[in-house]
Amino acid sequence: KTAETLLEVNNIEVIYNHVILVLKGVSLSVPKGGITALLGGNGAGKTTTLKAISNLLGSERGEVTKGSIVYRGKRIQDLDPASLVKTGVIQVMEGRHCFEHLTVEENLMTGAYTRSGKGEIEADLEMVYNYFPRLKVRRKSQAGYTSGGEQQMIAIGRALMSRPETILLDEPSMGLAPQLVEEIFGIVKSLNEEQGATFLLAEQNTNVALRFAHYGYILESGRVVMDGEAAALRENPDVKEFYLGMS
Ligand code: ATP
Repeated sequence: KTAETLLEVNNIEVIYNHVILVLKGVSLSVPKGGITALLGGNGAGKTTTLKAISNLLGSERGEVTKGSIVYRGKRIQDLDPASLVKTGVIQVMEGRHCFEHLTVEENLMTGAYTRSGKGEIEADLEMVYNYFPRLKVRRKSQAGYTSGGEQQMIAIGRALMSRPETILLDEPSMGLAPQLVEEIFGIVKSLNEEQGATFLLAEQNTNVALRFAHYGYILESGRVVMDGEAAALRENPDVKEFYLGMS
């Protein structure tokens, strides 16, 4: 039961534009083979936390000014995206970001850019199609013409093509109809159980996230205010009242 810890975020502080303090000492740990949820309302700091981990704050004029981020015992704070992918960590950004003018399959193949070995890459493409049969049907379509749900699938599929150990998933439910949200989370769960993929996912939809995750952290105004096993959080009166929309 005591799984190895892959990712450790220790007391990080993030400041935007040198003055806006957004994360005020966030700590969390992600065990190998788990689905860990990062919960909280709009602006709580979920995206900022994921971007701090994947070193994507620079383009937003954000900076980790305190604390450390460690993966398998190694500091990953200063790694460029390609090195991070080689370490085994990949982020699926909020809003999905497909290459609209490329086909579905070309989009998926861009995920394999750090790899060589044609046979293995083709096998992984089949694995992705196995989890997302809809993408196989639409593989020759231009990504810009696919639906929001399909674009979320493309984004996750592309991440899988880099053979990640850990996937950082930002707001997978965003803008999707409830049935599609269930479908996407169902696939995340299968990838976790069958491929051993580790997930850290940021989600405003506490309800669905706590049904699929093993463990959750709740962020409020840049601080972790509560954390625990998902089953325990689901039964917590405060979580029920403030996050699950029922008391
Ligand atoms: P959301 O669901 O809206 O993505 P979130 O929990 O992911 O919410 P963040 O996007 O991390 O929250 O934002 C946390 C806070 O940081 C917000 O108050 C936001 O306004 C602020 N913020 C985010 N990006 C920047 C930026 N580039 N410059 C200044 N402030 C920012």
